[in-house]
Amino acid sequence: MSQLEAQARDQLLRRRNSLRPAVELPADPAARWLDYEGFSAGPSDRVRREVAEIDAALQRIAEGSYGSCLACGGPMGLQRLRAIPEGRYCLGCSGAALGDD
Ligand SMILES: [Zn+2]
Repeated sequence: MSQLEAQARDQLLRRRNSLRPAVELPADPAARWLDYEGFSAGPSDRVRREVAEIDAALQRIAEGSYGSCLACGGPMGLQRLRAIPEGRYCLGCSGAALGDD
């Protein structure tokens, strides 16, 4: 794991822990982030979405694909990853895809 990935992972886990009381994540660490999509009650959509984003980023770190834009495959850019460690798209694609941000 690169230093960037280690830092991002640390940051993401801390953020996720701060959200955990509101979300009541499954105890099983292997639970996939997609499972949370099925929640119908409880935490707000915003919190659930953020946890899902964080878990997806942690998954990408585990798979070694972290840091690449999911749309164009290009590098996310160090500054963007530091600002938004759970971000999925590079600056160019985030404006074009899904209306992120
Ligand atoms: Zn891109």
